[in-house]
Amino acid sequence: MITVSAEEVARLLPYEQCIPLMREAMIALSEGRTRQLLRSILDLPEGRAFGSMLGAMLDDGTFGAKLVSVYPDNFALGGHSHQGVVVLFDPATGAPSAILEAGEITAIRTAAASAAATDALARKNAGRLAILGYGEQAWRHVQAIKCVREIGRITIWGRSPDKARAFAERVGGEAAASVEEAVAGADIICTVTAAAEPILESRWVADGAHVNAVGSSRAGPAEIDNALVARARFFADHRPGVIAQGAEFIRAREAGLIGEDHLLGEIGEVIAGTLPGRTGEAEITLYKSLGSIVQDIAAARHIVAQIGR
Ligand code: NDP
Repeated sequence: MITVSAEEVARLLPYEQCIPLMREAMIALSEGRTRQLLRSILDLPEGRAFGSMLGAMLDDGTFGAKLVSVYPDNFALGGHSHQGVVVLFDPATGAPSAILEAGEITAIRTAAASAAATDALARKNAGRLAILGYGEQAWRHVQAIKCVREIGRITIWGRSPDKARAFAERVGGEAAASVEEAVAGADIICTVTAAAEPILESRWVADGAHVNAVGSSRAGPAEIDNALVARARFFADHRPGVIAQGAEFIRAREAGLIGEDHLLGEIGEVIAGTLPGRTGEAEITLYKSLGSIVQDIAAARHIVAQIGR
């Protein structure tokens, strides 16, 4: 069995390769060429969690799982909040064939999937990027989004002004004193925090913006207010997942602001050209990312294929 470290994942999964892989994986998901169960989450003490995701790719039969712990408190200690393994199985024999470090795969594939969604939904001339959060995903989103749009200005908000400043320096951006200031006039907004209650309000978001809502990957915590959900053309990575576990969507639906039909469809359909994405320059588009095992398997399979060569 092959074992792949975080360093090897990083080396073999550059964004330029991962973004097209995510496009293909999301199209395959939307066309029914994959199978996956909804993510299971076991709550642990102190706000920690243990998640499991199972899936299969029907093209070559590869199937696998991700087991990941989420320790949000690790971030303040300078560590990784997401750690675990992706396991691939050989479809011919049923034997496990590879174990890969999951934190790095998760970090790269999530941002790459957001970049693919941004490419499909943001205005072509979108050049102002706002990032809410300054953790792992914030860093990854800056790198990945730059692969799909010419970014001229980056603004950062986070709860700690010092950390926001340090992160802004690292990415050549500017720290903002408030979310409102960070997103004012932004063309692309990525919410990549572990916030439990909405930090982004619709009234601060300019017409024409594209939003990647990434930080909440379960029913419960929400980063975006109901008004923004209702205002946006709303797309999911995986429709049944977002209906069952997409906190922002669930909250707006329960508030009576939207019905289930407000979820227009999956990003894979938009990328495949079977569902219109943005239909006007002034529209707000929103990609709700819960994260999918199909993304992990596609990334892991690509890495293992390169090692096997
Ligand atoms: P990190 O632990 O590296 O960063 C967490 C970020 O959230 C930090 O900026 C932290 O800063 C901030 N934060 C925590 N609590 C709050 C709060 N109440 N209000 C505002 N900001 C807060 O995590 P990652 O970057 O890896 O992940 C970010 C989020 O994205 C997590 O919730 C994670 O579960 C989710 N995620 C989603 C994926 C998907 O596929 N959709 C995949 C991977 C992660 P500070 O504490 O200083 O405020």
